[in-house]
Amino acid sequence: MSHLLNDLNPKQKIAAETLEGAVLVLAGAGSGKTRTLTYRTANLINKGVSPSNILTVTFTNRAADDMKAKIDDLVGSETIEEMNLGTFHSICLKILRENLAEVNRSEGCLIYDTNDSIAIVEDIIFEFGLEETEYAPKMIFNIISKAKMELVIPSELIEEYAQKDNQGSQHFYQIISRIYSEYERVLENNNCFDFNDLIKKTIELLEDNLEILAKYQNQFQYIQVDEYQDVNHSQYQLVSLLARPQNNIFVVGDDWQGIYGFRGADISNILEFEHDYPEARTVKLERNYRSSNNIITASNQLINNNSQNKVKEAWTEADDGAPIFVARAENPLVEAKYVCKRINHLVDFYNYKLSDVAILCRSHFQSMQLQNQLPKFRIPHQLVGGVSFFDRQEIRYFVNYLKLLVNPNDRLALKRLFRIEVHGVGEILLSEINKYAREHNLKITDVFESPTRVKGIGNNKAANIIEFQRRVIDSIYDLREEKLPMQKKALELYQRVNFDQNVLAELDNPEERKKYMDMFLEDMADFQKNNPGRGLYDYLLINKLITDKDITEDTQEKVKVMTAHSAKGLEFPVVFIIGAEEEVFPHLKSLEEKAAGLNPYAVEEERRLFYVAMTRAEKLLFISFSNRRVSGDQGQYKQIVPSRFLYELPEQRLDFTSVESKKGGSGIQMRKNVEVI
Ligand code: ATP
Ligand code: MG
Repeated sequence: MSHLLNDLNPKQKIAAETLEGAVLVLAGAGSGKTRTLTYRTANLINKGVSPSNILTVTFTNRAADDMKAKIDDLVGSETIEEMNLGTFHSICLKILRENLAEVNRSEGCLIYDTNDSIAIVEDIIFEFGLEETEYAPKMIFNIISKAKMELVIPSELIEEYAQKDNQGSQHFYQIISRIYSEYERVLENNNCFDFNDLIKKTIELLEDNLEILAKYQNQFQYIQVDEYQDVNHSQYQLVSLLARPQNNIFVVGDDWQGIYGFRGADISNILEFEHDYPEARTVKLERNYRSSNNIITASNQLINNNSQNKVKEAWTEADDGAPIFVARAENPLVEAKYVCKRINHLVDFYNYKLSDVAILCRSHFQSMQLQNQLPKFRIPHQLVGGVSFFDRQEIRYFVNYLKLLVNPNDRLALKRLFRIEVHGVGEILLSEINKYAREHNLKITDVFESPTRVKGIGNNKAANIIEFQRRVIDSIYDLREEKLPMQKKALELYQRVNFDQNVLAELDNPEERKKYMDMFLEDMADFQKNNPGRGLYDYLLINKLITDKDITEDTQEKVKVMTAHSAKGLEFPVVFIIGAEEEVFPHLKSLEEKAAGLNPYAVEEERRLFYVAMTRAEKLLFISFSNRRVSGDQGQYKQIVPSRFLYELPEQRLDFTSVESKKGGSGIQMRKNVEVI
């Protein structure tokens, strides 16, 4: 055991051995930051620190699982399950669940995702009689969400966001402020949190209750954060609050990889760590273990075009390796076929496995062509983070029944069921029912008992509502009382409401959807088996938080297709970056923001993202773009300009191919070729 840290190089070791005080590990991609953090945790446990006294924050759930497994390998402590290891969201949820009453929530409290939140805003706008054209729900939700992320409360909204000298803007924010407070009230009434609440409410809880704060400060004696460059203001606040007074805080990150600025992440947090913690020790890791020298040199040269960088060195003992293969294709179809052929070639002749390969794109829609082609080349693939299993329509529908089962206050779920199940009663009547309930101080389900009381509801409509009340609502309330294992309960509910007949049969492709429903019920059974003592409530919460979870039908070898954002922290022997084109990568939005003077650094964030994408590769990196693509309804071709990032790579590290030429890597210099287009 004493040799534990021998798996680290001298600098990594220094970091992993520094257990007290503030430590910043600042280093480029692939230098072993995550590895150092993992070994440090094992070291803490080895030194006798109880896992429950360690708080470790990762950026994704997958990263948390990987880390837990690795620590288990290294030290195998029996108490490892007590370790607080997870994303900000999951850690905060845990704290909130231990203190529900203090944050005005009660048992059964669930989480609303962005779609749910926007639906709530939509209802409020409707109720306030505002025009959706002027107050677009999504836009309003974005403002509320930003405010919550920045810990701005409704009464502060005008002061914080409205321009002082502009009456129009004052008026606008006055209304938003009213919507925001109503939104908060609805969430409380429905006994739900939204995603932003998880962090905001935790901070409020801790700031308002000094005893509770002291308890957690005392519990989390050692705090560690991975991917610190992507921490936003409220997450930063939370970490500093919990770390006091000892400030045993260990953060690792890479300012070159800050890619969540659009979500409020602020790389100045990492840049100013030494300022916030003047005693901090900074460790720079310079040796890269992941990638070939060509990949490291090229990605470093790219990122040095940014102005805001901390200076970092990077070296490797690895060979130059293969050049970076850059390919220009005639159009996206040719590009997709090129990628498929290359993959088959690597598998057939170079011993690579399909799971060694990741295809990265800037946005999901870009990978459509590829998703069509992969099966034609018999390459099984897994789309990571796309429309996930839990986002499928039939599953989302069914989850509403389950939500009501655990949280009868969830009016949004109730309304959704009503909309799905009750035919012939539109929005206006639904809001009349709501109004009636409010005015007579009744529950909305009480009104369902004899709906003709409400203006505009005749006998036919009333019959539909009463049938819904009996079959769906009563079944849910009856089942709430029954002591059944969760999966049995769900299955029972499925049958009692006759989901197949009443819902699936109304949708397109019911047979296929039925298969997914079966998989869903199976997943519940698995969860139950693997998590004894946990129930439906945990199942629903966990699936909300785990956005990177997906159920795959089998475990065969698969190529992964994902966005550069979701590839963060991961590594693959072979990486393809597709669509390296102006207006795609860098994204059009960043170019517009920069041109409009809204964000002078917008393109720099895109460059960091391109750096993240390149540095996922260990051995082989392929970058491709198309000459032209179809645009507009008329099917005209649009000429494409290759991404500026390609021109920033060192020519001598590249191998340029034009896909039409049969020869493959022609070795012609990049710049000349690109100019021919
Ligand atoms: P990123 O910035 O992309 O998150 P990172 O700095 O966190 O990268 P890791 O993922 O920790 O880097 O490490 C990259 C690879 O290098 C991993 O496969 C890791 O196991 C390996 N590695 C790191 N340090 C060492 C070491 N001292 N000895 C052997 N392998 C190492
Ligand atoms: Mg990492």
